Amino acid sequence: MRFASLGSGSRGNSLLVEAGNTRVLIDAGFGPREMSRRLARLGLAPGEVDAVLVTHEHSDHIGGVFVCARRFDWDVLLTHGTLAACRDDGADVQLSIIDSHEPFSVGDIRVHPFPVPHDAREPVQYVLADGANRLGVLTDAGHVTPHMVAMLDACDALVLECNHDVQMLARGNYPPALKRRIGGLWGHLDNDAAASLLSQLGRSTLRHVVAAHLSAENNCPALAQVALSTVLGCEEEWICVATQDEGFAWRDL
Ligand SMILES: [Zn+2]
Ligand SMILES: [Zn+2]
Repeated sequence: MRFASLGSGSRGNSLLVEAGNTRVLIDAGFGPREMSRRLARLGLAPGEVDAVLVTHEHSDHIGGVFVCARRFDWDVLLTHGTLAACRDDGADVQLSIIDSHEPFSVGDIRVHPFPVPHDAREPVQYVLADGANRLGVLTDAGHVTPHMVAMLDACDALVLECNHDVQMLARGNYPPALKRRIGGLWGHLDNDAAASLLSQLGRSTLRHVVAAHLSAENNCPALAQVALSTVLGCEEEWICVATQDEGFAWRDL
């Protein structure tokens, strides 16, 4: 199993996971041309992707899903609530409605969805497994629930939202209502919340930790790296930071 990011942040998200003969994206927040360009950077053509697993209907995650699915013949898997909240009804797209508590398979990848608290209709995040390794992915969650801890426990790799630094958000220029939304229970995880989550997880098999969905305004990579590396007792540089423009390169499990 290996994984990479096409880009991560409020201007577009897409994570690529490959196991056996199967390649899936988690979200497609870029249009077809940009998705093609970013996939090419990772050595793939759009036609080599089998499916996209959608987390929720916010445009930085779903912006390119339906147009890419039609153009590149991707299957789309999403919750009923996410589809209901979309402007696009998914006509002419191979859609599968998933249950946020029910595991399913896409080719060689076993997918375990789990619900998260976020200001969307029926948001989920995912743990992907290939029988040997487990990759846990979590972005866009306002707080940490016991169920999230249980689902993300004992992974081999984690991609964790480190959206903002609480102090930077408080002192920054965002309007008060937006600050309340981002920092609220259905907003986004800050660095310390991500670190607290990491501290609650079994980590004996953990070999990759990626900080993701960083705010360009209210965070900086070094702060996310300090927060997560303090929990692990590792070098700060060992924590990978996914960027908006580059994402991150393939990481092998
Ligand atoms: Zn987002
Ligand atoms: Zn969101």
